[in-house]
Amino acid sequence: MSRIPICFVVLSCAACILLVGCSSPDLATQKEISDLKTRVALLEKDMAEIKAQSAEADSAEQTKICQINMQTIANEMQAYKVRTRAATYPAIADISKEIGPGKILEDLDKAPECPESPNNIYSVQPTSDGGFRVICTDPKHGKWDDGQLYPSR
Ligand SMILES: [Zn+2]
Repeated sequence: MSRIPICFVVLSCAACILLVGCSSPDLATQKEISDLKTRVALLEKDMAEIKAQSAEADSAEQTKICQINMQTIANEMQAYKVRTRAATYPAIADISKEIGPGKILEDLDKAPECPESPNNIYSVQPTSDGGFRVICTDPKHGKWDDGQLYPSR
């Protein structure tokens, strides 16, 4: 017998076993299928957990970057007050309108952008004690208030 017919016989047998196995799985095969299904379910559960953890990490990272932006804005506000000798801090509804030469935040070339969404804007609110706070549209990102960053507002 040459190699090719042997291969053919082996493949045919394998195909028969597969066909028989598929048409009427015996108990051992059914158990294997059931075990595999259990393993797939466990893997899916692991994946869901990993995704949730990763989303949580992303969210924490975004809050951190957003707070660094608030700190940058606060530094520029203080620079503005020193530069202009203004008596009080001005209110700014959207700091992206106060970037560049002649504006309040003139040292910034570009408005800091919240990493969570370009639709989030930063604003500055003077406080009654003569200070100010910097906030992002997203309250979950906290605030900068009179020299300190807060995780929530
Ligand atoms: Zn933000």
